[in-house]
Amino acid sequence: MKKFKRIMSGLKIRNDDLVLGIGSGDNPFARADVLVDKFPMVVGRHRTSLMAARVDERPFIIGDAQALPFVDDAFDAIISRHILEHLPRPEEFIADIKRTGKRGYITTPSPFTELIHGGFVDEEKAFAPEVIEALHHGKGIEGHKWLVLGLDNHIYLTAKSQALYGVYLMFGSFIKKNTEYVRDTFFDAHPRWRETEIFWDRDKLQMSVVEDITPEAKEDDPIDLAEIVKSCRALAEGREQRTSWKGKLWRKVSSGREFELAKLLACPQCKQPLRIGEYVMTCQKCGEYPVVNDIPLLLKEFLNKAGEIHADKLYHHN
Ligand SMILES: [Zn+2]
Repeated sequence: MKKFKRIMSGLKIRNDDLVLGIGSGDNPFARADVLVDKFPMVVGRHRTSLMAARVDERPFIIGDAQALPFVDDAFDAIISRHILEHLPRPEEFIADIKRTGKRGYITTPSPFTELIHGGFVDEEKAFAPEVIEALHHGKGIEGHKWLVLGLDNHIYLTAKSQALYGVYLMFGSFIKKNTEYVRDTFFDAHPRWRETEIFWDRDKLQMSVVEDITPEAKEDDPIDLAEIVKSCRALAEGREQRTSWKGKLWRKVSSGREFELAKLLACPQCKQPLRIGEYVMTCQKCGEYPVVNDIPLLLKEFLNKAGEIHADKLYHHN
């Protein structure tokens, strides 16, 4: 709650501000009015929380942080927590948050956290050759590709290169095995060492890549339509219960500002407004995107794939 208040005051969120939460996952930001996430369910390397995305009465959209499915200037503020370090093409993310939002908040693990913990769930496996190999390709257990540093409105990224994994394996293990280092105690005393935080302003935000990731690591992971459809159906059923405390908190902190979601949505490819139908959303230029139980699947990978959902009988709409 302390952190929530700090983000709210850092961004000077007003009552009638429209707020987007990117990569909302199982812990959507309480004040976000619209939620967007690419991976709604547990998919090994994308989530460590082992929790499905949390969906309440707020609009929830399947979309990519690097190709946001919203019109220009759609939001007053954008919250993005623990997303940037995963992205293959962060420059597209920066361009798109500046296009769609006036200001925002980004947080990632600090470079220290990355080097000490390396994204491993199971420390005992840290030295296994296949783990080192996987990390080198940006596909560690948490799939973090970057070390992220934020100074004022400037974000610096450095690839988690093979050399850095070497540093992690030696340095991280050495500290943990040879000191009284206890993660939570340490971070409670030094909160800035836990996370990188950036409060950004559209006119000032810049990003520099100190060392780039490999061309291979720049490719998006494949995404499975049938899997996403299944997840969305499950989420939509959960939504109907509307009992989550996050949802209740949102009702408490939200201004209750009325907005028309349809007017905010855009084609993730060409950014033109979409024509909203019951079963599909149509871009006049690019084609149709599927809608599953009121959740729009606005990913370029799913363009003109609505037919496949019907064919597989996965599609359902109340
Ligand atoms: Zn389009």
